[in-house]
Amino acid sequence: MSWTKERFDRIKAWEESCEFEDFIDDRVIHGILKKQENPSRESVLGVINKAKENAYKGTMLTPEETAILLHIKDEDLWEEVFKAATFIKEEVYGNRIVLFSPLYISNPCVNNCSYCGFKSSNEEMSKKTLQDEELVQEIEALLDSGQKRLIAVYGEHPKSDYAYIAKTVKTIYSVKKDKTEIRRVNINAAPMFEEEYQAIKAEGIGTYQVFQETYHRETYEKIHPQGTLKGEYKWRLFALHRALKAGLDDVAIGVLFGLYDWKFEVLSMLYHAMDLERIFGIGPHTISFPRIKLTSGSNPKELPYALKDEDLIRIAAVVRLMCPFTGTILTAREEPQLRDVMLKKCGISQTDAGTNIGIGGYSKAQEGNDLSNQQFAIGDHRNIDNFILNLVREGRLPSFCTSCYREGRTGCNFMPLAKQATIKYLCIPNGILTFKEYIRDYASPEVKKLGEEVIIPKYLGMLRENLPQAAKVVEEMIQKLESGGTDCHL
Ligand code: SAM
Ligand code: SF4
Repeated sequence: MSWTKERFDRIKAWEESCEFEDFIDDRVIHGILKKQENPSRESVLGVINKAKENAYKGTMLTPEETAILLHIKDEDLWEEVFKAATFIKEEVYGNRIVLFSPLYISNPCVNNCSYCGFKSSNEEMSKKTLQDEELVQEIEALLDSGQKRLIAVYGEHPKSDYAYIAKTVKTIYSVKKDKTEIRRVNINAAPMFEEEYQAIKAEGIGTYQVFQETYHRETYEKIHPQGTLKGEYKWRLFALHRALKAGLDDVAIGVLFGLYDWKFEVLSMLYHAMDLERIFGIGPHTISFPRIKLTSGSNPKELPYALKDEDLIRIAAVVRLMCPFTGTILTAREEPQLRDVMLKKCGISQTDAGTNIGIGGYSKAQEGNDLSNQQFAIGDHRNIDNFILNLVREGRLPSFCTSCYREGRTGCNFMPLAKQATIKYLCIPNGILTFKEYIRDYASPEVKKLGEEVIIPKYLGMLRENLPQAAKVVEEMIQKLESGGTDCHL
């Protein structure tokens, strides 16, 4: 029996005996959206205030409240949402932006998702699975850029099954260059069985991310051919339930915007978060809002639900109000100008920088988009240092922090800190320390100057004012870094 057929049969058997209850009811979601179509000004302002209060209580908005925000029509009310998004982000995490890089490791795929460059029917894609030495070269190139945090990405294929994923995670952590290393590897890979999750957990993965793509069943079935593994909606819907049950600590959700009505998708993500919270006591660690981009072998311009820039900006801000304690991720799929606007007003907490999604792209120093070697076109090609320069010019603190995960502050040990809006007292010190290490080892003169003279004094000053004890510890650690220390964190 082929790998795919055997897996398909196992998935079907799992679906038949699935212990979880479906949490997406199209009729209910459409009903809530319809009911809140024309919210009053007072009700919008009431929800915005409630979202701000929720930031200290660790509660999410309800579907009805979220639907009110999704239907705002007045520009001035949207401005209030953006202000609240910035406020909530700063209250929970502080004005730091965590930076990571995606690392595409293998692109062969048994599925045929209509929107994806890796789909099995795309003959314009050159198929590649990195071998050990090639992977090491990628890691060395990433370390040379100053990166410490990755999300490793894989197509679904016997060549990149759970055992291969586990092996590559082990290899990534093993690479040392100039006395430094990758300190956190997150994973974006197809849904697995519980024992497979346990095998990748054993190698120390950080967050495990699966995007539902669309929560709308009918659309899901149209774009993911039936008979393929990805065609199984239910298997994917509960991918993160299985992961948490298997013992993974942090899971991440997302929707591929452009496939179906964005308002329906945002509410569905909320139902997903609520169900994880209800069963496991921890919501998603992050929420992503990728948007469909051009690939070889497909044309995103033909999408009936193509998302406008202004709607993407609104989605990001509403998600921040909807789940105040959850990290939000913006990716280099988008153009620099839009990214800068979104970083400024949507309360984004994490983003990728120095992104290259070609297989082997970092070590080959592949420039621009090469659609025969990458899943989709990205919009932001700035290198890490340029990206950081932009952040520090805006007064923000770039962070390569990996400390929660390494200090055991994951899952139910992490959530209370985010829910009580106290995590910032760790995010800011660790942001300062990891930025200091970056400045020492990798920064351009301009980043170094702004970092040393403006950013570090600014955030250290904030610490001195609010947490003098922590400020003292950070100052001592800064001295350690100045005399050659590495990896100082709280
Ligand atoms: N194969 C695994 C799976 O499907 O779960 C890994 C995911 S794939 C390599 C990573 C994500 O890229 C997908 O979940 C999808 O949301 C996104 N993606 C696929 N095609 C895209 C496109 N044309 N533009 C933007 N994002 C895309
Ligand atoms: Fe394969 Fe994932 Fe692309 Fe679908 S989205 S074709 S499953 S890599």
